[in-house]
Amino acid sequence: MNLIDGKKISEELKREIAAKTAAIIDTDGTPPHLAAVLVGDDPASQSYIKSKEKSCQAVGFTSSVYRYPSDISEQQLIDAIDFLNKDDEIHGFIVQLPLPAHINADRVLQRIDPAKDVDGFHPVNIGRLALGLPSYLPATPAGIMLLLEKSGIETEGKHCVVLGRSNIVGTPVSLLMSRKAKPGNSTVTLCHSKTTDLPSIIRQADILIAAIGQPEFVKGSMVKEGAVVIDVGIHRVDDDSEKGYHITGDVDFNEVAPRCSYITPVPGGVGPMTVVSLLLNTFKAYNKEIYG
Ligand code: NDP
Repeated sequence: MNLIDGKKISEELKREIAAKTAAIIDTDGTPPHLAAVLVGDDPASQSYIKSKEKSCQAVGFTSSVYRYPSDISEQQLIDAIDFLNKDDEIHGFIVQLPLPAHINADRVLQRIDPAKDVDGFHPVNIGRLALGLPSYLPATPAGIMLLLEKSGIETEGKHCVVLGRSNIVGTPVSLLMSRKAKPGNSTVTLCHSKTTDLPSIIRQADILIAAIGQPEFVKGSMVKEGAVVIDVGIHRVDDDSEKGYHITGDVDFNEVAPRCSYITPVPGGVGPMTVVSLLLNTFKAYNKEIYG
C-alpha cells in the first residue's frame, strides 16, 4: 500500500507557485491578488478565510478580505460583488459559503464575473468544464486530479466510482475523471443516496473517490484488492483522547488501507490540495489564461 502524501505534494506545488510569484515581483512588482468575501461571523468560515490568507502570504500573493455583517441585504452583497468584478487590482475572488439564509447563494455566485471566479462555481465555468473547455476547476476536484497525476496513477480505462454528487466535489470530479484527458479517460459511475446496492458497485471500483459526508462509511469488505482510494471526507469525531476528538474521513482507513494500492490519509490527503488549487486558479486569473 502506498500513501498519497497530499501535504508533501501541496508543499512542493506551493514552492513552485512562490518561485513564480517571486519572479513576477522581481520584474513588475505586482503579484497576483486573491480577495475573499466573508459574511457574518461563523467560526468555521473565519478559520477557512484565515488559512487562505496565510497560504496567500506564504506564496507571495496579495490577499484581502471584504467582511460584511450577517444582516447585509442580498442587493448590498451583489453591489459588493459588482465592485470586485470591476476592480482591476483584484485578479480573482471567492465568496465564502455558507451565506446567511435570507441570501440566495446561487444568485450571488452567478453574479461573479466568470473570469474572476477562482472557486470555479459559476455555471459558465462548470459548463466549460462539462464541455472539456479550459475553465477554473472547483478546488477540491482539481486537487484530486493533481494528486492522481503527481502520484503517477493510471486512470485511463479504469472504472472510477464516485460516492456523492454534490456540486462542489462529486459531480465535477466525475466529469473530470471521464474527460478525454490525462488524468481522465476513466469509465465513471456516480453514486448517491438513491443508488441501490452501493457496496456491490464500490467493489467494482479500480479508483474510488469517496465524498459522501458519512464518517468511515467505506469498509474493507467493500473495496477491491489493489484499488486506489481517494478519501475526500473530513469529520471531527469525539473520543476519550486527551484532545477529545480525532479527524477521520469517509473511509475506514484501518480496514481499507491494507487492501489498496494507493490511499489518501485524512488528514493530510485531499485537504491540503484544496487551497493549492485555489492558488493555482488565482495564478491563471492573473495571467488571463482562461478568458484572455
Ligand atoms: P454533500 O453533503 O453536499 O453531498 C454528499 C453526497 O453524498 C450527496 O450527493 C448525497 O446524496 C451522498 N450521500 C450521502 N449519504 C449517502 C449514503 N448513505 N449513500 C449514498 N450516497 C450518500 O457533501 P460534500 O460533497 O460537500 O462533501 C462530502 C465530504 O467531503 C464531507 O465529509 C466534506 O466535509 C468533505 N469535503 C472535504 C473537502 C476537502 O477539502 N478535503 C472539501 C469539500 C468537502 P444525495 O445527493 O442523494 O443527497
